[in-house]
Amino acid sequence: MSINYNKIQDVVVVGSGPAGYTAAIYTARAQLNPIVYEGSVTAGGALMNTTEVENFPGFENAIMGPDLMDQMRKQALHFGANLVTDDIISMKLDGEIKELEDGSGNKIRAKSVILAMGSAYKELGLINEKRLSGRGVSWCATCDGFFFREQVIAVLGGGDSAMEEANFLTKFAAKVVVIHRRESLRASKIMAERAKNNPKIEFLFNTEVLDIFGEDKVTGLKLKNSITGEESVREFTGIFIAIGHLPRSGLVAGQVKLNGEGYVEVVGRSTMTNIPGVFACGDLVDFTYRQAITAAGSGCQAALDAERFLSGH
Ligand code: NAP
Repeated sequence: MSINYNKIQDVVVVGSGPAGYTAAIYTARAQLNPIVYEGSVTAGGALMNTTEVENFPGFENAIMGPDLMDQMRKQALHFGANLVTDDIISMKLDGEIKELEDGSGNKIRAKSVILAMGSAYKELGLINEKRLSGRGVSWCATCDGFFFREQVIAVLGGGDSAMEEANFLTKFAAKVVVIHRRESLRASKIMAERAKNNPKIEFLFNTEVLDIFGEDKVTGLKLKNSITGEESVREFTGIFIAIGHLPRSGLVAGQVKLNGEGYVEVVGRSTMTNIPGVFACGDLVDFTYRQAITAAGSGCQAALDAERFLSGH
């Protein structure tokens, strides 16, 4: 569908995870003709990197993350959302008409904007982590697990993502060692139990990663026991980092109010930001629940808030 860039749009949705696509579905059904920026490479958001989603209501036998996102995308298209496979590179959000620019240089003007940029993988912050990225260091088991057949792999983190990655990697790896900085896991009981019952998974608790070794490829980790202070080296050929996410709020920092950790602040239980006509939803806002279903729910709220805002103007 071609977009008339001279026209002032009712609503632009930035982002395409469950929050962005749900906002797209609702605003499209409300005849607001939304323009949805899906991202140039990351359309679908974090669920594109997951395997089976067992807790999204409506799927008795689970659904693969990418399939779920494909369904949401098709549903948005079905109702007439204008999906653009590009990034928004700048936004000027104050004033009645918001001005956005995309990666192809198109300028879009809109009366309202729904921010649904989600979050990005958190990094350890080690120099060798960046250097060896793609050479044994990965943030996505579903993308890269296949390359680690019969190898010994470390998964860093103690949350649901780490458990999910570890379980998935046992399909390929000879052994998976989950390395967590504390004594107890943050993961939900069901995910933790599944990992603990997997004979290919070993746990190293109270263990910090000090460095990642390897010239062209990962060869091991330098570890420190946080209780005894003892340092050790252990051989691994793959390192999967699953230590959480950071909100992708960089584009709107300085305009939209953020909390201390960079999440967009919204008013009460709404999706309204401090700027009239700008709404935010999904992982960009939510540092508590961060589930596909809660992101979808907040995308719905953002669409309804935008619809009310537009009908009042
Ligand atoms: P998370 O729950 O925030 O867990 C991050 C883990 O990484 C924590 O164990 C944390 O340790 C550790 N960590 C953080 N920074 C670290 C650092 N610099 N060095 C070492 N360790 C570090 O993140 P998540 O596992 O990505 O999960 C995010 C949300 O998505 C959660 O709400 C989760 O339930 C949800 N999720 C659900 C599913 C599912 O249901 N299928 C799957 C994946 C994720 P501490 O515990 O010490 O803080």
